[in-house]
Amino acid sequence: MILIQNGRFTAIGANVAIPAGATVVDLSQLTVVPGLVEAHNHLALTYKEDPERNSYYLTHILEDTPFRAIQAASNGIQMLASGFTIVRDMGNNGNYADIALRKAIEQGWLPGPTIIPSGLIIGGLGGQFSPTPEMAFDKKIVYPEYLEADTRDEMIKAVRQNALVGARVIKICVDCKPWGYTTDEIRLFISEAAKAGLKVEGHVQTVEGARRAVDAGIWSIAHDRGMTDSIHKVMAQKHIFRAGTETPISLVGHTTPAQYKFTVEMLRNAWQNKVPLTFSTDADYYVPGKTRGEVAISFIETWKAAGIPAPDILRAMTVTGYEVSETERTRGPIKVGMAADLIAVRGNPLDNIDVLRDVQFVLKNGMVFKQGGVMTPGAFFNGGPVNGINRR
Ligand SMILES: [Zn+2]
Repeated sequence: MILIQNGRFTAIGANVAIPAGATVVDLSQLTVVPGLVEAHNHLALTYKEDPERNSYYLTHILEDTPFRAIQAASNGIQMLASGFTIVRDMGNNGNYADIALRKAIEQGWLPGPTIIPSGLIIGGLGGQFSPTPEMAFDKKIVYPEYLEADTRDEMIKAVRQNALVGARVIKICVDCKPWGYTTDEIRLFISEAAKAGLKVEGHVQTVEGARRAVDAGIWSIAHDRGMTDSIHKVMAQKHIFRAGTETPISLVGHTTPAQYKFTVEMLRNAWQNKVPLTFSTDADYYVPGKTRGEVAISFIETWKAAGIPAPDILRAMTVTGYEVSETERTRGPIKVGMAADLIAVRGNPLDNIDVLRDVQFVLKNGMVFKQGGVMTPGAFFNGGPVNGINRR
């Protein structure tokens, strides 16, 4: 029995007294599981075959931030319906649509996961784009998809800009371009972010970049392309989180057989080395017929292919996810005093992780969002900021 009052767990045990007038929800035919964490998504980005041939550079040209913010609201609802109660939203969200979404959900305008937004991705000249000179220098087209920071003053100011607007984590492009960031520069990001109480995630795509990021003592590394056995050993020793974004082979066009083979081998290597593993997808594209949540949960295919036991996959999706999100003392575990988030599924995910593909019940902040496999979100919609305004 789990007692919830004012959006928090207040008693848990076999013999909890039911207060008079309490609403009783019977989940005894299901398995109750803590809410899931997606440690790397881009909710305000949805690139697609038509019209942009899956090139997000074109999405950035064709779709304005307000439109993308509305997509983010929808994608957030789709993620919550699949059991993701926390999403780390790691940039590429137009002009801070991720932070608008966080505030809207926290204030109570609409349902959605708890968002841990990074604000703009900070990178050297060009970010991850390769624009023409006219676009890059005359039109400043890299902004706001990337916040260019090439000198130490610009790096400090970029961190402060994101913190000012409401980021909860800082994301940097370690090696998107050959100029990248040095170990000392990554340390500067880490120390400046720390002043605002923020950790730093590095987008890493080369072994050299990974080496610099782990030497600097970064909080988390996104993607697996720079991973090696020796990098994994350092990550385990320094407790650096791995957000490997392991695309399954069934998502045709989003990985290749060679990439997938590498991804599976390195995920297994990371698990063998006891690296703190998070469940992360980078699923920022439209797969016809699937919701954003269904695409994200389908990534368990890769984890199974890597031979990772179901309890360890679930740990990556929950406990380690709360740690990388820094919510472990406020939200995630089903413990007295925590925000009342939980899900329920048919069957036991400790035996068969695939039962998470069909979440039957979702509770967020003590309110029922999904029941009997159907969204029932009415209580989440309000005509004003019922939870109060949030200044940052
Ligand atoms: Zn990403």
